[in-house]
Amino acid sequence: MNKIVIAIDGYSGCGKSSTAKEVAKKLGFTYIDSGAMYRATALHFLNKNLSPLRAADVAEGLKSLQISFQQNPTTHQQETYLNGVNVEDEIRTMRISERVSEVATVKEIRAALVAQQQKLGQQKGVVMDGRDIGSVVFPEAELKLFMTADVETRAKRRQLELLGKGEQASLEEIKLNLETRDEVDSNRTESPLLKVSDAIEIDTSSLTFSEQVEQIIDLVKKVTLN
Ligand code: C5P
Repeated sequence: MNKIVIAIDGYSGCGKSSTAKEVAKKLGFTYIDSGAMYRATALHFLNKNLSPLRAADVAEGLKSLQISFQQNPTTHQQETYLNGVNVEDEIRTMRISERVSEVATVKEIRAALVAQQQKLGQQKGVVMDGRDIGSVVFPEAELKLFMTADVETRAKRRQLELLGKGEQASLEEIKLNLETRDEVDSNRTESPLLKVSDAIEIDTSSLTFSEQVEQIIDLVKKVTLN
């Protein structure tokens, strides 16, 4: 299999991350969760009591920000580290979901994270998911996908995911968070979420997880055979 870059963008909670992770595993590619980087940044700003909307705070926050990924030796899952501390569980909580999109509107923060994402993808053989991967991070990606799903389906999936981690949240609360993030992500000035013209849309509302994965693997085969 040729080493290519697969860019997966789309709305919040469409299953981008879990699908991308499985596709990467099947292809022997590296999976990079760009959303985790924005989430870790949001946590960093909260921990340090810094406002992402104040220039001096942004400069200070970025100076002391170090994000990395490490594989858990037991689960073999990739986990997110913030300044050397494992923050994988904390960044998935509603507390962070409610703050992250504001952090992601800030130009300087995006520039710093995009530079790191481009470096991580340099060697190709990468599946990266996010909001601006096909448009800004890897505009030359060989395969670009745009995932969607209706908001009810997304909220139910997210509720189950949170429950699995011991966090209870109502469907209404989750739905509101997904819709608010979609709205902020789609309407911000810096790298808004959009479907680029060369992206293939995949609506996952009525697809099972393995159907989603298989569809993408088929597309990868087509791209790499050409
Ligand atoms: O992918 P995930 O839902 O974890 O992303 C959390 C948030 O991070 C998004 O709602 C968005 O505000 C921001 N994000 C972004 N650009 C990316 C990835 C995530 O703006 N490439």
